[in-house]
Order: sequence, then C-alpha cells, then structure tokens
Amino acid sequence: MKDDENKSCPFVTPEGCTVYADRPLTCRYYPIGMGIMKQYDKKTGTNFFIKVKEDHCLGHNEDREWTIDEWREDQGSDVYDEVNNDWMEVVLKAKTLGNVEFSPKSLELFYMVSSNLDDFRRFVFESNFLKAYEIEPRVIQIIQEDEIELLKFSLSWLRFTLFGEGGFIVNEEARKQAQKKLSAESGTRQAEKSEG
Ligand code: SF4
Repeated sequence: MKDDENKSCPFVTPEGCTVYADRPLTCRYYPIGMGIMKQYDKKTGTNFFIKVKEDHCLGHNEDREWTIDEWREDQGSDVYDEVNNDWMEVVLKAKTLGNVEFSPKSLELFYMVSSNLDDFRRFVFESNFLKAYEIEPRVIQIIQEDEIELLKFSLSWLRFTLFGEGGFIVNEEARKQAQKKLSAESGTRQAEKSEG
C-alpha cells in the first residue's frame, strides 16, 4: 500500500498496472479467492475457491463464463500456483502443530524464504551452507541457474529445518565443527562470567 492514508496498490497508475507481467498470484486470481483446507491426519490440503463480487470489477458484467482451470491458464498462474502450494504446505504444517513456539532464528529463516529470494541465494552461496549439507553438484548447478528451482529448493529446505522433513543430509564433519565451535564459545562465556 502507498501509505496509511492511501490504501491503493503502489503499482497501480491511471494507465493500469505497472508490473502486470510480474503481478502476484492474488492479482492473477482476482476476482477469485483461493482457500486451502487440511485435515490433521492428511499430508496435503484441498483447495477451494470463492468468487469475490465487488462493484469496481467490471469483468462481472461480461457474458463469458470461466471455469477455474480456464481462468488459471488465461492468467498464467501455473508456476505461481506450484510454488505457492509448496509455501502453503509449510504454513499448514506449522498450523497443525498447534502451539509450537518457533525460535526467533527459525522465524527469521521463514521470513527470509517467504519474502527475499536474493537473501536466500546469498545465504546458500556466500555462507557455509554448501559445506553444512551434502548436496549433489547437479542440484547446486540447477539452483544457481534457475530461480524457480532455487525457490522450490528454499521451501524444501525450510520444511527440513522447521520440521525435520525431506531428504537433506547434514555433513557430519561440518556438524562436528559447529558443535566444537559452540562448546568453545560457551566455554569462553563461562570463563568471562567467572572472571567478572
Ligand atoms: S494487478 Fe495487482 S500489482 Fe498490479 S496494480 Fe493491480 S493490485 Fe497492484
């Protein structure tokens, strides 16, 4: 939104949407709203749809009828749907866990993966990430070259790091080094406390 006073989208102009080719999924679906329902004992959820009827949407006056699939195809939502579903699975999983408190670090990672692919890319390629996990060179190459694959990878890593799900293998040597570092840091803190 532009500001507290002006609640309109910052990308709308008298000429229309300035980011139309890259508009988000909610804009592609509008005037359809999508929900997802998940039972506690099921791994995945079921999508359902509602039609949002607002006077300013003149499309409602058209004669043509659309099925959901026709509308999705027309709006080019396929790849957005695919990644959005992966993200929704993470959110639903967190919800089904009930009152689990995620650590500030976990929440930070969740927000990074959910909103900033450039930060996640730096996190993977400019930290010890690739030493900490055993990841096939083929996968590394794919996520380096393809943003959509990087996005999917980020969500599957998030599932692993939040819920322990998925096929990530922690590098044993890196795990030992990290543990050593933690013990050393905790030893230093203890020593500083005793001196203080
Ligand atoms: S289509 Fe979406 S991004 Fe574009 S102006 Fe409308 S609300 Fe904003």
